[in-house]
Amino acid sequence: MAIKKVLHYGEPSLREPSKEVHKVSKKIKDLINDLMDTMYAQNGVGLAAPQIGENLRIFVIDVATGNEPLNPIVFINPKIIKKSGAVKSNEGCLSFPETYTDVRRYANVMVKAINENGKPFVLEAKDGSLLARAIQHENDHLDGILFIDHCINRFEAEEVLKKHNLPDLDPDCLIEEKELEDELNKND
Ligand code: ZN
Repeated sequence: MAIKKVLHYGEPSLREPSKEVHKVSKKIKDLINDLMDTMYAQNGVGLAAPQIGENLRIFVIDVATGNEPLNPIVFINPKIIKKSGAVKSNEGCLSFPETYTDVRRYANVMVKAINENGKPFVLEAKDGSLLARAIQHENDHLDGILFIDHCINRFEAEEVLKKHNLPDLDPDCLIEEKELEDELNKND
């Protein structure tokens, strides 16, 4: 177990799709422990394997706050099987130090995955909860998608990236989210 270096935006492997895990081997369990150690060391809510240089479909999330006991959830080969509603989410990412911007997310998701013991599970997260948003954020990392690709205000996102000396937005990566956008405008 070890605290790993978190790759920062600009590192090409953050844009690469990750591979499925075929067996929860000792090597995979070690990687999961490294993800948790690194996430807790950086006070993150979630961390995906590609962020520590392993392009495998694994992420960990812990939304416990304050004095709540640690409650890590491990997702291996996750698939979002249902999504609905829309929510504006102010997000950051351990790969973008100090950088926050508003992005579009689904309010409710249902995810299917395998846990650290190789057991399948289904989890539902609702009402734009931190868990619901974190699942979408971390799941995106496995496909080389980053939170800024969902930004609501492109100019604001560009400003904040520049301010923190990070590379510019990649216009080819911006995601059109007409459905989420319409839903958000309706809520306003
Ligand atoms: Zn992230």
